[in-house]
Amino acid sequence: MADPCEDLIKAGRIFHAKGWMEGTGGNLSARHDEKSFWITSSGKHKGELGGNDFVRVDLDGGVVERREEPSKPSAETSIHQLLYKRFPIVGAVYHVHSVEANLVSMFTEGEMVRLAPLEVIKGFNIWTEDPEVSIPVFRNHGEVDRITADFAGWLDGNTPLIPVMLIRRHGVTVWGETPAKARNYVELIEYIFKYMVGARQLGL
Ligand SMILES: [Zn+2]
Repeated sequence: MADPCEDLIKAGRIFHAKGWMEGTGGNLSARHDEKSFWITSSGKHKGELGGNDFVRVDLDGGVVERREEPSKPSAETSIHQLLYKRFPIVGAVYHVHSVEANLVSMFTEGEMVRLAPLEVIKGFNIWTEDPEVSIPVFRNHGEVDRITADFAGWLDGNTPLIPVMLIRRHGVTVWGETPAKARNYVELIEYIFKYMVGARQLGL
């Protein structure tokens, strides 16, 4: 089986180059099996990830395997855990800290942001004309577990239209069946965010 961390290394390099993962910010994970996933170790530069910069954790957050001692999983691991646990089909979870995600997180109506109805939304398998797609925005609690609890509560009562959530003035998280799909979703949502910021600047 191919090493899923190779996909994460590649995604980190691309997202860093785009300015979506500056320094050590953000985190990337990919499923290993039904009970565990690989996630970036805390404090690693995302543009320069190496094969040892990952930790394998189980769905309850326990470390199963390290490639380097000492290393600990990303501080935001609980959000990834929630998604792997809740959706067995999820194969990768990517979280980046882009400027556009932070700006768009302020464009809320209630606790949701309505996305501009752009053609690229088809990339999320939404085929209606002028699609009305909103994504949830969560408060950026200092304690990550509180963000995860809010998100879990939201998922109890709502089905996400597209696999994207925002944390206010923090970043965006996407999930997909494979690392390739998750990478595609990050690129699509960042395109939409960039458009939305640009449209506001132009007063559209
Ligand atoms: Zn973050």
